[in-house]
Order: sequence, then structure tokens, then C-alpha cells
Amino acid sequence: MDPRMAVTFWGIRGSTPVPGPQTARYGGNTPCVEVRAGDSILLLDAGTGIQSFGRHVRATTSDPVKINLFLTHTHWDHIQGLPFFQLAYDPRNEIHIVGPKREGAPLATCLDRQMLPPNFPVPFAALQGVKSVTEMASGATRAFGDVMVTAQAMNHPNDSSGFRIQYGNKALAYCLDHEHVEEEGVHPGVAALAENADMLVFDAAYSDEEYPSFKGWGHSTWQVGYKTARFSNVKTLALAGFNPGVVDEDLDLIKEQVEALEGHTIIATEGQTHKL
Ligand SMILES: [Zn+2]
Repeated sequence: MDPRMAVTFWGIRGSTPVPGPQTARYGGNTPCVEVRAGDSILLLDAGTGIQSFGRHVRATTSDPVKINLFLTHTHWDHIQGLPFFQLAYDPRNEIHIVGPKREGAPLATCLDRQMLPPNFPVPFAALQGVKSVTEMASGATRAFGDVMVTAQAMNHPNDSSGFRIQYGNKALAYCLDHEHVEEEGVHPGVAALAENADMLVFDAAYSDEEYPSFKGWGHSTWQVGYKTARFSNVKTLALAGFNPGVVDEDLDLIKEQVEALEGHTIIATEGQTHKL
């Protein structure tokens, strides 16, 4: 079996989808990342990018699929793809949703509420491919087949969870959505997930220059991502979660700057697969 992990980006924008000619090259969907590890399929977040993932799977097979879907939190941009995720409606599929504990209501209730009428005509219960919704506490590590997954609380309004996906000696750290605290250095939860990771997907909503206008909104900068990757000895830093106003030309400029720096940094791009 292939000892490597394959990571595919299906959605890389934060807050809201931003389709259009100015975002066509890097992609305009909200977060969804696919991880293939041996026979396992894992997804991180269910933003609008999850629809492209679903179509891709159905274009390659009509067999039932098993997926472990990890939600960082239930802000709309991380769950808004679920009501339109065609694989979730197929009762033959086995989709297990895992996410952090929510303040005030169980995770399953939060997902259900997104689809309540009159806001949406189809109830969450119609997603017959979804076989379980479970909560995972910060600091917990659980086995999902051959894959070990660790959760850590991030710094974000209404709380968010980051994840580390470990498969053999390969590791992916996923830290969306998260805001750094300048005075405190690298956040301990981020450091725990990112240490020696082959890839760190990091919240690069802003640049350091833009950040003061958005302090307290729950997001970080590509420069903080870069410092975090060096601090944590990360092999590849994948910048993602871009603010809706960031267009492809802005990302081209960031790409130029990070490529001039030491270490390997990429702009997460929809449809691209990276073997770790
Ligand atoms: Zn959020």
C-alpha cells in the first residue's frame, strides 16, 4: 500500500464563496480538503468545495464510499456545502462526521439547524449517507482505521478545532480558522499539531499589513503562517482561508514573496493534489 498521503484542495477561501473571473485560477470555494491515506478517505471541512469533491468521486466510481469528515467548527463557510453534498444523500455510503463540542447545543443539532425550514427545504435527516455525528475534545487522539487524528482547540470566535492527521510517518496539520496572539508566539495548540508535519494548512486570511483592521475576527496572516512553519519544522506550508477580497492577482504577489523565502510554501489551489 502507498505509504504516502495525498492531499487535494477542493475549497480554499474563507467566509463566503467568491466565484468569478478574479478568483478562477486559485479557486473560489469555501474550505474542503480531501486526504487519501491507504484505503481511507478523510475530508476536512464541508465548505462549498465539498460539492466538487462529491462530483469527482461520482465521476470515478458508483460504488458506495466510506468517508470520515472532520469539521473544524460550524461557521457557515465550513458546513454550507453539506446540504448540497450528493454523496451524503446516498444511503449506501458511510459518512462519519466528527467535530468539536459546540457551546449551547450538540454538534448534530448545529448541523440540523442549518437545514431547518423555511431556511432550507430538506432536513438533515435526509442525508442518509451520514451514519454518525460525534464530538472530539481538544487534546484527544483517535484512530480511524490506519489513521490517527488529534484535535486541538484553536483561537477563534465560537471556538474552532485544528486537526493533525497522522498516517505512518506522514503528518498533515490543518489550522483553519485560527487567529494568532502576537505577544504569545506560536499558539500551543497549533504547535502541538504542526510539529515536524509534512504539510501545515494555515489560516492566511490576511497579510500582516491588513491585519490591524481585522484584529479579533479570528483569522491570521500568511506571515504568521510562515513563522509558524519555520518554528514547527514543517516541510510544506499551504496558505489557505483567504479573505473574500483577496483575488488571484493578490495571491500571485504573495506567491512571489514566499518563493523568495527559505522553506517550501504553496498557495493552496483548488483541484491540486500534493503527495506527502
Ligand atoms: Zn470561522
